[in-house]
Amino acid sequence: MAQNSARIPGRHALHIPGPSPLPDRILRAMDTPIIDHRGPEFAKLARKCLDGIKTIFKTTNPVIIYTATGTGAWEASLVNTLSPGDKVLMVETGQFATQWKNMAIKLGLSPEFIKTDWRIGADPAVLEARLKEDKKHEIKAVCVLHNETATGCLSPIAEIRKAIDRAGHPALFMVDTISSLASADYRHDEWGVDVTVGGSQKGLMLPPGMSFNAVSDKALAASKTSKMTKSFWAWDEMITMNKQGFFPYTPATQMLHGMSVAIDMLHEEGLDNVFARHNRLAEGTRRAIKAWGLDIICRDPKYHSPTITAVIMPDGHDGDAFRALALENFNIAYGSSFGPFAGKMFRIGHLGDINETAMIGGLGATEMALAMARVPHKKGGVQAAMDYFVSTRSSSAQVAAE
Ligand code: PLP
Repeated sequence: MAQNSARIPGRHALHIPGPSPLPDRILRAMDTPIIDHRGPEFAKLARKCLDGIKTIFKTTNPVIIYTATGTGAWEASLVNTLSPGDKVLMVETGQFATQWKNMAIKLGLSPEFIKTDWRIGADPAVLEARLKEDKKHEIKAVCVLHNETATGCLSPIAEIRKAIDRAGHPALFMVDTISSLASADYRHDEWGVDVTVGGSQKGLMLPPGMSFNAVSDKALAASKTSKMTKSFWAWDEMITMNKQGFFPYTPATQMLHGMSVAIDMLHEEGLDNVFARHNRLAEGTRRAIKAWGLDIICRDPKYHSPTITAVIMPDGHDGDAFRALALENFNIAYGSSFGPFAGKMFRIGHLGDINETAMIGGLGATEMALAMARVPHKKGGVQAAMDYFVSTRSSSAQVAAE
């Protein structure tokens, strides 16, 4: 929060790429007395969440719900399916892919990391070529981020599936959807993903602290022979108890109350509309940035992210100093910079419970902050975003036709 006055009027503009703002309806659903997590009322709630979350991942198989942040669900995906020393193929799309890779090393796996310049997503052709070379099928899993939160690059998961199939490779396919689930089109079953990792705090519009593994039959079969040490993360006990609507340990009851409403809200809007809204907000944001004369990290439009856009600062201007100035003066928070782009960018989140009005407010604050920070830029970014939002509203098309 801004530090320059005792009371900060108005809402904080939370434009980090998650956790995303909580809708009041979800906050209210969570503001309810604790119930017995071994009782019938809880079982009803849990069943609703366990069934409902499948419709978000688009799977008919179990989705395991962990009381843990996304990092826990990363660990769960690896320790349930693999054995010590197993080779896994990962792609260095950015900071979060790097963290997953570092975790694999710490767990005793043997990751091979395909390099990128952090400005694109995972390239199916590169994965296919590497898998074709692996004639002995030593690679046991391919792990990819659907959306790299550190850079704003989205990877084509359906195409990567096809690339794995073209290579005739039997590796498991694991996908992190932490910053894309319920914001970008995603189909666990149809796209042949074996483990999908998800988190509560972004598209699902919930607080941080809950995460998911959606699993395929192939992943379940692999879990029977996996030799990694596991206890809390083990799928088998969870799946058995979930069938009755219970958990092997005390679940995050209030989060489940929120989740039940979040799933309702996503279906009330319609998932396709949710995805279209995120695409529009992202495109409006990119148009504003272009009109300012600034560039974004994602250098190839085919990888543009619907949930986060990372803005490159002109030489001589520090992205994190800019974030501090914007927070201080306009009570807006952006995502920080990482790795090769440390100090050289700031990230605008446009995901979760957000609409054009909030986005224009956020972009307006950004344009004001660019002026205050004397960052060289052109005026008119907010106008470009407004023009785009108006031109893509169906009612504006109607007005134009009249
Ligand atoms: N994967 C991605 C793509 C993320 O964006 C994040 C966090 O933002 C994580 C993994 C780690 O999740 P958590 O911070 O909830 O542990």
